[in-house]
Amino acid sequence: MTKLTVISAAAATPEDRPFRARHLIGGTFRDSADGAVIERRSPAHGLLVSTAAEGGRAEVSEAVAVARAAFDAGDWSRRDGKARAALLLRVADLIERDLDRIARIETLESGKPISQARDEVAGAADLWRYAASLARTMHGESHNTLGPDILGVVLKEPVGVVSVITPWNFPFLIVSQKLPFALAAGCTAVVKPSELTPSSTVMLGELLIEAGLPDGVVNIVLGHGDPVGMAMTEDARVDMVTFTGSTGVGKAITAAASGTLKKVSLELGGKNPQVVFPDADLDAAADAIAFGVYFNAGECCNSSSRVIVHEDVAEALIEKVVALSRAVPFGDPLDPATKVGAIISPEHQDQIDAHVQDAVAGGAWLRLGGAGLPVPGLSGQFYQPTILSEVRPEMAIARAEVFGPVLAVLRFSNFEEAVALANDASYGLSAGVWSESVHTCLDFARRAEAGTVWTNTWMDGFPEMPFGGMKESGQGRELGRYGLEEFLEAKTVTMRIGRGSRAPWVQGSAPL
Ligand code: NDP
Repeated sequence: MTKLTVISAAAATPEDRPFRARHLIGGTFRDSADGAVIERRSPAHGLLVSTAAEGGRAEVSEAVAVARAAFDAGDWSRRDGKARAALLLRVADLIERDLDRIARIETLESGKPISQARDEVAGAADLWRYAASLARTMHGESHNTLGPDILGVVLKEPVGVVSVITPWNFPFLIVSQKLPFALAAGCTAVVKPSELTPSSTVMLGELLIEAGLPDGVVNIVLGHGDPVGMAMTEDARVDMVTFTGSTGVGKAITAAASGTLKKVSLELGGKNPQVVFPDADLDAAADAIAFGVYFNAGECCNSSSRVIVHEDVAEALIEKVVALSRAVPFGDPLDPATKVGAIISPEHQDQIDAHVQDAVAGGAWLRLGGAGLPVPGLSGQFYQPTILSEVRPEMAIARAEVFGPVLAVLRFSNFEEAVALANDASYGLSAGVWSESVHTCLDFARRAEAGTVWTNTWMDGFPEMPFGGMKESGQGRELGRYGLEEFLEAKTVTMRIGRGSRAPWVQGSAPL
């Protein structure tokens, strides 16, 4: 094996009792009627870390009925913004109180490093606080220019019952990018986390109850995408689905939602390029590239899995990225020094490896990695930091979302070629540009087909800044005011002022 930085198993193996995750329906935690459960083993340690109820269509039907009734009753949907905000702020405080507990189960179920999990839970608390501020400041618009006897008002109303379907890569953060915004708007919800990482969402459910959220406003159904996610999408009593996950499932959800023409908001995959011009600060770019591709072991919609570098600086940049890749600490996610943890499942590890072997067979040059990474003392699956150069745009490794710690390097010779290569993808989630020229950065930012563009940085995110994709990376936006708007309907109210001022239609002579 090439020399890498590997963090062996911490001296003590986790001794936590497995968390028991149950559905939350109408304010009560409960198992499935048939007692079915799904066991989750830590992808790093191979230990049983949670047992989750396995729901089906019956649990979804009940949860949707409860969410529908809660919405229609109006206790939450018509509650004033100040009271909604107060509750969201209480939830943020409780998340911070329980940060260690939530971060630990997140690490045990997903394999992500504990230091990163802690940052994500803290970031999630901030999202609940930001959504609270929106709950008090959202408003519609008024039109005072429609004539002396007309006043027009556009009301913003909650869209209704929302199905929230989330993936395994950032379970707590992603539910917090959706749920507080839906609640700020006045919606009620049924939530389904991935069956691989159910527990932190159930812990959130416990905090919602403790904070005083009325029963039935948020319900959680655990289980597999099919049938649970499917039933949450098809049910006519649901008004909207918000989904984060793969593009394939996003398309299946869009098709299933079309039967009832409900609103669908999708945050899907990406094949995000970082484009490096010859005048770039190569050291800064190399560090951001290592961060972009190894963060969360590359299991990230925002992974910068493509680097498009000018031919004059390509070799120098690759050398720097290889050196940094050897220094990134891969290994036991429970060690605070670890920056890259385990791969979510053995099946996913095999898929990552198949992508790499296919690229090598197709002529790509393996500069580093390209195999599983044995970590002393741990039985779970890890993958080496992997860099492939001489990648051509038509190769699968340049186009597919590998979702692992695998970098594909392509080269360009001029600005137009760089833009064309960056946009040569079915995805359009994010892109980055590295240059000391503000003109180059802005030209690129305006031409890139991506929902987010970073210039001389990567993956800086803020609750205030909207996030989402173009092309097959999704539809709609999360975060910022746009993130709230997703959960709102516009209602037009046109008011005639003054009695008798309307011209009669039946007996009047005015032309239409
Ligand atoms: P999926 O898209 O399959 O799953 C995401 C969520 O959708 C999970 O809760 C899943 O449930 C649920 N789901 C699955 N099928 C359906 C369905 N037919 N109807 C409704 N909900 C459904 O992602 P995976 O976890 O399988 O990962 C596969 C690939 O997807 C990854 O390798 C990666 O490429 C991509 N991905 C992208 C993400 C992103 O952030 N853009 C996030 C996660 C994955 P369950 O898993 O419990 O069956």
